[in-house]
Amino acid sequence: MTTAKTGAEHIRSLQDGRTVYIDGKLVADVTAHPAFRNSVRSAAALYDFQARPENIEAMTFSPDGANRRVNRCWQLPRDHAEMVARRKAMQTWASLHCGFMGRSPDHVASTLVGQRIGIEVFEKHGSARAKALRDYFEEASRNDYFLTYVIINPQAERAKDWGDQAEGLVAKIVDEDTGGITVRGAKLLGTSSIMANEVFVANLQPLKPGEEDLAFSCAVPMNSKGLRVLSRKSYEASAVSVFDNPLSSRFDENDALMYFEDVKVPWERIFVHRDTDMCRAQFHDTPSHAFQNYQAQIRLSVKLKFLCGLAHRITEAIGTSAMPPVREQLGFLAANVGMVHAMLAGMEADGTMRNGYWVPNRHQMYSAQVLTQDLYPRFVNIIRELAGGALIMLPSSVEDYADPHLAKIIRTTQRASKMEPDEKVKFLKAAWDAIGSEFGSRHTQYEMFYAGAKFVTSGHSFRTFDWGGATGMVDDLMSTYDLESELKRVQAGNGKA
Ligand SMILES: Cc1cc2nc3c(=O)[nH]c(=O)nc-3n(C[C@H](O)[C@H](O)[C@H](O)COP(=O)(O)OP(=O)(O)OC[C@H]3O[C@@H](n4cnc5c(N)ncnc54)[C@H](O)[C@@H]3O)c2cc1C
Repeated sequence: MTTAKTGAEHIRSLQDGRTVYIDGKLVADVTAHPAFRNSVRSAAALYDFQARPENIEAMTFSPDGANRRVNRCWQLPRDHAEMVARRKAMQTWASLHCGFMGRSPDHVASTLVGQRIGIEVFEKHGSARAKALRDYFEEASRNDYFLTYVIINPQAERAKDWGDQAEGLVAKIVDEDTGGITVRGAKLLGTSSIMANEVFVANLQPLKPGEEDLAFSCAVPMNSKGLRVLSRKSYEASAVSVFDNPLSSRFDENDALMYFEDVKVPWERIFVHRDTDMCRAQFHDTPSHAFQNYQAQIRLSVKLKFLCGLAHRITEAIGTSAMPPVREQLGFLAANVGMVHAMLAGMEADGTMRNGYWVPNRHQMYSAQVLTQDLYPRFVNIIRELAGGALIMLPSSVEDYADPHLAKIIRTTQRASKMEPDEKVKFLKAAWDAIGSEFGSRHTQYEMFYAGAKFVTSGHSFRTFDWGGATGMVDDLMSTYDLESELKRVQAGNGKA
């Protein structure tokens, strides 16, 4: 048994009649459309990479009783060593897109790994729902599905509760019968949905009693009848060429509004049913939220290392790399890359056993999440500071080179001590694509918000910190002296202690 899912198989699986719209038109085939085809190929390349004989051992594993290997993201780690092997596979995958595909298949697989480990939480909710989760995990992992999720509601009127939003806005159960539930309304932001096989639908934001219609979770195939996918603008489609936009043209994983127009979901794919607290518990009482965001930090560790390399090359391109203040900035960036790597190692080393599986340390994960949410825009700003106008003073497109006269001017003006002019142009275009293009700017928004706004992520950190230990230290100090005895000493004329 040495085979694993390949890119060609993945591409075929996306030609399933899904209903995706862009620029007012229905997309006949996402794998061929100029807005999506390169990103689809980048996703497919992940599967081709894992299936290569030289990578198969590091990237995949054999689930018990399976007749095919699947990606390690589906592995429930039995100990620290398995967790580290799983992380290394994810880092290797992320390095194929320099960390720019935030919703690569390992993200939502990690969500489900956490839910599967905490299956007793679903058992408490109901044995049929637990069975549905168990069976779905089996199906998704054995088939190495690419899953995405929509677990957030449209912002609409943020000061109102979710149940009080306008009719037809937030996805909810509008009907149910012996076959299952019917869902109507919207969820966002469906990142990677265009190239995923299925979408996990849930509600992560707090619900209150009375909002049971909104309180469900389920998994639906992307070609489900009634599921409308409204893509945002495609950065891939507006990319000029691979030379001009090497990242936007290939790694635009896309985001999309998912509108459920009376989508029917069978009971065997419903994991939470009309239980507002269970919507929270599926993520937070299981290690699901910990696993999915641990994966996000794993991916980010690769992206930050890439950006750090980019910063260093920029200083070479403009000849500032030996200047002490520039080295100080580079040293600061490098220290933060080191911090994220060390925090990952900490989450793993300080993990705990649950139901026979090793789970990452939650508070250390939230610490990394809160810190990196601020760090990312800071990183981008420092790179801009290091670059000055170099990121802008570039030929309009590769086509300028086709005119020999213009090419000569470009080669005269794009000089650098450590790079040939053509190499410098090529590199600086990549740098701008990473941090300044519309694609790059979307990435800053992504890193700042993918896990929730600051008040949400800091709230997780607050909830999971060892306040007893921290305040206990303060209390211990307080217990070493008191006002009464100090006063007695002063009154006895003993002065300073
Ligand atoms: C590029 C991108 C991709 C995404 N992909 C996905 C995806 O694939 N699947 C998915 O489910 N979600 C996805 N999301 C959604 C993401 O999870 C949400 O953006 C995030 O949870 C924040 O929610 P929100 O956008 O509603 O912002 P809000 O929660 O409304 O926050 C916006 C701002 O409003 C203010 N604010 C709002 N409420 C409060 C409050 N109660 N107290 C204080 N301040 C408040 C704060 O200033 C806050 O920063 C994606 C988001 C982005 C940007």
